[in-house]
Amino acid sequence: MKVRSVTTVDWFKTGLYILLMIVITVVAAILLSELGLVGIVLWAAIFAGSLFLLVRWHAHSTAYRCPSCAEVFTISTLTDLISPQVPQGKYLTCPGCGKRSWATILMRDGA
Ligand SMILES: [Zn+2]
Repeated sequence: MKVRSVTTVDWFKTGLYILLMIVITVVAAILLSELGLVGIVLWAAIFAGSLFLLVRWHAHSTAYRCPSCAEVFTISTLTDLISPQVPQGKYLTCPGCGKRSWATILMRDGA
């Protein structure tokens, strides 16, 4: 697997996707607000669906480097969703050495 450092373009792209998700959920909330309970259920489905797509894209386009042993590894969509994240990295268990630490975020090449 080829990886590279995170660039400004990557930050811009991630920000754009998050903004798009916010716009979709806000517009959906406005359009569905007249439908009562059905609207709330539909909105929750749209929110969960767009969040899932966003996190899945993130999980598939990123990789992480362990600060202890330098192992480069990828994570699942679920791990991406539930693990604590800061702009520079994510708190993960390294599959190489088994240590839990703040792994450095990288982009997968071609992502
Ligand atoms: Zn490690």
